[in-house]
Amino acid sequence: MLSVLHHPLADHIITHLRDRTTKPATFRTLAYQLTLLLAIDATRDLETEPKMVDTPLESMTGRVLSHQPIVVVAILRAGVSMVQPFLDVFPDVSVGYVGLERDHQTAVARSYYTKLPSLAGRRILVVDPMLATGGSACQAIDVVKQSGGAEPRLVCIIAAPEGVAEVSRRHPDVSIHVGVLDRTLNQRKYILPGLGDFGDRLYGT
Ligand code: URA
Repeated sequence: MLSVLHHPLADHIITHLRDRTTKPATFRTLAYQLTLLLAIDATRDLETEPKMVDTPLESMTGRVLSHQPIVVVAILRAGVSMVQPFLDVFPDVSVGYVGLERDHQTAVARSYYTKLPSLAGRRILVVDPMLATGGSACQAIDVVKQSGGAEPRLVCIIAAPEGVAEVSRRHPDVSIHVGVLDRTLNQRKYILPGLGDFGDRLYGT
């Protein structure tokens, strides 16, 4: 399943992310803001339970999140930029990392690091800002599943149709939440129109 954000604020943020003149500090803020919107979208079916609460005027039954801890798995390095919004809004979040490095000649990802918390019974969100070929995302999802994680969700800022198709083919159980679906990939497997290399834009490299 593919879910694309449809919100004027998301359009606004993504346009400024794309702008080549946006400086890294602003880029990081925009990435934070957009991820916050995605975090809400990707968790809208979290379970809640009733809770009595006394307002200053009367008692009523509200709802609070049931105890299903969230695990955010960031694909290094650019995925790190998408962790903080989850930590800031959800009460119980742990964080894992999968280190995948894209070979700029072949565009194939190489795994160099994995550190995951316990995954059983948890809501798992794999975060990576750019879903291009889908190779890294599928590799990270493989790692999550091999480590006991069930039905992870994939959360990305920009996706190419090729990446969405690849993840859907290799992991049909994974729902994909994106800020925007772009047109295609270029010959070097960058997303068009995209925003360039997310990690470089983020860290000024
Ligand atoms: N990774 C990026 O940072 N940008 C792209 O366009 C594709 C993959």
